[in-house]
Amino acid sequence: MQNQVKRSSQHVYDYVIIGSGLSGLAIAAALNKETSNILLVDSADTFGGHNRSLMTPFGPVNNGIRTMPSTELSHKAIAFLEMLMMTNVQPQEIDCPPVTFDSGALKPFVGFGENPPAFYDELSYFFSPKQLKFHIEPHEWTQLLFNHYSGDFSPRSYVTKFHGADGVIKSTTINGQKQINALNFIYCGPVKSLHLLLPEDGLSYRARQKMSKSEYWTAVCLDILHQGKVTDSEAVHVLNGTTQDEIGPCAGKFLPSVEVNDQALQYSQWISFVNDEDAEDTENVGHLLKKMKRQIKRAYPNALDNIKSERILVVPSFGGNGDIKLSANQSLPAYPNLWVGSSQMHTQKNLLGALLQAEMITSALGCNPLGVQVDTGQMASESESETQA
Ligand SMILES: Cc1cc2nc3c(=O)[nH]c(=O)nc-3n(C[C@H](O)[C@H](O)[C@H](O)COP(=O)(O)OP(=O)(O)OC[C@H]3O[C@@H](n4cnc5c(N)ncnc54)[C@H](O)[C@@H]3O)c2cc1C
Repeated sequence: MQNQVKRSSQHVYDYVIIGSGLSGLAIAAALNKETSNILLVDSADTFGGHNRSLMTPFGPVNNGIRTMPSTELSHKAIAFLEMLMMTNVQPQEIDCPPVTFDSGALKPFVGFGENPPAFYDELSYFFSPKQLKFHIEPHEWTQLLFNHYSGDFSPRSYVTKFHGADGVIKSTTINGQKQINALNFIYCGPVKSLHLLLPEDGLSYRARQKMSKSEYWTAVCLDILHQGKVTDSEAVHVLNGTTQDEIGPCAGKFLPSVEVNDQALQYSQWISFVNDEDAEDTENVGHLLKKMKRQIKRAYPNALDNIKSERILVVPSFGGNGDIKLSANQSLPAYPNLWVGSSQMHTQKNLLGALLQAEMITSALGCNPLGVQVDTGQMASESESETQA
């Protein structure tokens, strides 16, 4: 892979970006317009985070369901992305309200009534009646962003600690041993892990407790390759079953069917949530998957008869933001040179959150290619003056 360069242990980067998912790569590509003295690190073998390609018999698809509501904010986020990738992703708005299966038929989804699941906030992202469809799919975005990045990239590099002195972060430890120095650090990994990486005095005791005790959601994702076409519907399906327990409401959709060797194949992708603690017991995850399948079968009785393959992806701490408070410019109040770029920090979350959080940080750093100074005033007033030791 390109961008892997050996530097002396004394080298000081302008920026170290931790996490090469959509937000980390967007920030890297934007900062790269000013400097190439950047190190992008990721614990995985390659860049892309959750937003990468998954190979199927009919070509690459997104790594799990991907939808984006068509809103003003989405268009702003896409304009930012296109500017960085120097490519038009050709967003197209489709009028496609979500459907549910009820009393023996598919009907418009109108909500969960009096029994919304505890993870409603995670699931509701998928309910928008107007969605954006892209000619260049989200799984291709990270490769295109990486193509516009000429700083250093260090895969298989797990950041295990930040080290501070004089009120700023000076260095970070990678894989428990290697020390990397920089003037600025941008953390784009899961928020749940952040308090473990910070110096002892980085967060007040109260903030640390709050972060560790916050509720985080594990995403349980099921992809199915169906032999034969199941449906022409492009709508997000919100399936809730008949039992009113917390387990199993899921969202999913079918990709258009394709002919491979004179055989129709159709791929469907589903997502549901269970809280992180419950997900530690694999039986709970198994139970959830069983219920998801039962609901798909209820809506489409023959859909699971001829499954060519299925894939299960479990993503711990997919949702939840630890209630962490940032300064208006998205840095940590105790360490003004440590920014938090994770999509989980933005109220919009997901793809949208990743892009908008990246946009806010690059604006704060004066490197937003759109030249738009994001109004951080609202964030400032939302920021609690939590005592950070
Ligand atoms: C199955 C699935 C379905 C989804 N569906 C949708 C959808 O329909 N619509 C939508 O908008 N969004 C969806 N999302 C969410 C969307 O993909 C993510 O919000 C977005 O990709 C997050 O980008 P990110 O850069 O914040 O984080 P990530 O993609 O999680 O990247 C974080 C990176 O940081 C690295 N990292 C973490 N900790 C460390 C460390 N200590 N040291 C070094 N590296 C570290 C990780 O290896 C990872 O590569 C879905 C996600 C999944 C998994």
